[in-house]
Amino acid sequence: MKRMRKLLSALILSLPLLAGSAAAQSAVDQKALAAMSSDAVAKLPAKKVFGAQKGPANLAPRAIGSYAKGCLAGGRALAVDGPAWQVMRLSRNRNWAHPDMIALVERLAIEARAEDGWNGLLVGDLAQPRGGPMLSGHASHQVGLDADVWLTPMPDRTLSRKERETINATVVTKDRKTIDKKVWTEAHARLIKRAASYPEVARIFVHPPIKAELCKWAKGDTAWLAKVRPYFGHNYHFHIRINCPKGSTTCKNQPTPHPKDGTGCGEELAYWMGDVPWVPKKKPDPNAKPVKPVKPPPPMTVSALPAECRTVVTAE
Ligand SMILES: [Zn+2]
Repeated sequence: MKRMRKLLSALILSLPLLAGSAAAQSAVDQKALAAMSSDAVAKLPAKKVFGAQKGPANLAPRAIGSYAKGCLAGGRALAVDGPAWQVMRLSRNRNWAHPDMIALVERLAIEARAEDGWNGLLVGDLAQPRGGPMLSGHASHQVGLDADVWLTPMPDRTLSRKERETINATVVTKDRKTIDKKVWTEAHARLIKRAASYPEVARIFVHPPIKAELCKWAKGDTAWLAKVRPYFGHNYHFHIRINCPKGSTTCKNQPTPHPKDGTGCGEELAYWMGDVPWVPKKKPDPNAKPVKPVKPPPPMTVSALPAECRTVVTAE
């Protein structure tokens, strides 16, 4: 037990160092991880271990577990500059995904440019090199099957590293119920429709007024709208989620969305445009007696993820 505690603290101490430094550090750390027993790895905080990974697990590509509790073997990096896309926020090192997801982003970029009047994609977070939970941001994006795509078309020039870190954008006004008509174009709608129409795409998440705009815009075949789900926070990007790829036998799909009205433009959208989902769960009562501070729960450990994720995180 003592030995294990020592190893643990040595490893955790080395993690922040690793986050901003050379591959040599990573090699050392990877060795420390590989030397640990599977039981010892299971007790480590999952975010820290997966958040410190610099490169992919050199295994056959597989999405393992569920979108918000899993990891990624054989991840591939999306090129930071492609023929019709640029990756944003390079410092995060989150341009990794299952090869099927990479292929889908590349295809969407090229087709949207050719067909939809969308100059190219600005690509946000995909996943970490080995997936898993992140130190900041998303609950999902863990298995390499999620991608955030900005609702801003790629400019005609290559953005600098600094610009990719600092540029911000939004397509909704401060009021969560309104789309910003000065920014929104029909090409935005065509881009989202194209993404939703690919059969391998399971869901798209957008900020609720974006769904409302798409509902107004769509003509003819509207079946694709069922996949476009209104959800908090997707105001400068939309989120593409694909189904479990063939061969990812331990990957867990979500049930296919089947809104009652076929599109989700009725009751479901009305709920998201109303106040209910936005009201904070519990408002503290200012007159209540002070309560004892609640201890935050301990961080989720690797043991909460599928057992295969230990192999993924310790692989060379
Ligand atoms: Zn996302």
